[in-house]
Amino acid sequence: LTNDTLAKWDRETFFHPSTHLAQHARGEAPSRIVTGGEGCYITDRDGTKLLDAFAGLYCVNVGYGRREIAEAIAAQARELSYYHAYVGHGTEASITLAKMILDRAPAHMSKVYFGLGGSDANETNVKLVWYMNNILGRPEKKKIISRWRGYHGSGLVTGSLTGLELFHKKFDLPLPQVKHTEAPYYFRRADPAMTEAEFSAHCAARLEEMILAEGPETVAAFIGEPALGTGGLVPPPAGYWAAIEAVLAKYDVMLIADEVVTGFGRLGDMWGSEFYGMKPDIITIAKGLTSAYAPLSGSIVSERVWKVLEQGTDEFGAIGHGWTYSAHPIGAAAGVANLKLIDDLDLIGNLRRVAPVLQAGLREALGGHAHVGDIRGEGLLQAIEFVEDREARTFFDPARKVGPQVAAAMLRRGVIARAMPQGDIIGFAPPFSLTEDEAGRIVEATAGAVRDVLG
Ligand code: PLP
Repeated sequence: LTNDTLAKWDRETFFHPSTHLAQHARGEAPSRIVTGGEGCYITDRDGTKLLDAFAGLYCVNVGYGRREIAEAIAAQARELSYYHAYVGHGTEASITLAKMILDRAPAHMSKVYFGLGGSDANETNVKLVWYMNNILGRPEKKKIISRWRGYHGSGLVTGSLTGLELFHKKFDLPLPQVKHTEAPYYFRRADPAMTEAEFSAHCAARLEEMILAEGPETVAAFIGEPALGTGGLVPPPAGYWAAIEAVLAKYDVMLIADEVVTGFGRLGDMWGSEFYGMKPDIITIAKGLTSAYAPLSGSIVSERVWKVLEQGTDEFGAIGHGWTYSAHPIGAAAGVANLKLIDDLDLIGNLRRVAPVLQAGLREALGGHAHVGDIRGEGLLQAIEFVEDREARTFFDPARKVGPQVAAAMLRRGVIARAMPQGDIIGFAPPFSLTEDEAGRIVEATAGAVRDVLG
């Protein structure tokens, strides 16, 4: 098969997520046929090697080409490619993985439920919360509060939770049970005089107002990524989670920490919840669970949640929920090998050493640039946000596509970064195995690209 044939078939047969379909079908949109990956690099069919500073979609945390995971997948496929996890069945891989996850999870977490991807795991979470409140005899307590700019998936419930308009418009979303409150986006605060602590208190006050306006007896849960991901890669301001959790406790509202991106080490601790001192009732996991070597996700529930679920099934029988591929043994085998590799190679330790090198490099190269408004992030979840005017903190007209242009210029320099979907923000979330040299390459490509686009 030649590249031209593959590209033609791709245009004729394949419809890609988040792609301008008409442009793609006409061959006008950028496309690439990826054939290999090793460490932090991918290779395409033309032989071009690119440093992937976004680890796919911030998921290939251990890097590409890990034989240990490939071999574990092959061994599992040879031994038992599939058996379902319904009605109490399990496989050695899925049971071992559940144990490994709980060994690493915060002490108050109790059980794991497996799915396939982050969206379906959050779908499970909403059903668990609704089921719980039915069992607890408060069926009116069902609303879920999310944040503008939160990302939690793209199904009907999870697309509703996602606080990005692109995922709502033309789909009649959000569903009425989902409400959105202010994003903890300190850099874009309306009042420049506010300190971080004041802004955190302001976000908590907005949440409390919303709970009171909706009626606390109708609000079941609050969902948030420990640090905002797709909505802009924004760590919360100081004191944010403590202030939010105080409000949630006051009105008996559960906390779902969506750790699809932050789970398994990306911020430098095993969990984003740990990093920010949160105490969630449910944790969503996906991406880094298998480093995307196979699809797998999960919901980790606390002992408090588990007790109610147990009580419910005693009263009403089995929970009406589950997928054919829940706890798929091949995904589970990938997960076991992946978590083992993270420990054996001390990849979180490496991330802790290299992440400050990347951020310091970006600050040194671009901190003084007239159009760089913010350089931020924790661990290997970092971003640069561009502004039209630094003093006035004004933003470019989105039609100028400054972020996408910088990402395109970086690509020409051999580095993949992600132009985030809202705002002129370039995101960095490379594999944890990143070396200092590779961090240097990312900085060089970013600085060059910013010069190309913004002078
Ligand atoms: N939650 C978060 C925080 C995510 O970043 C994502 C995907 O990027 C999801 C959920 C949805 O995961 P998936 O795309 O696997 O359905």
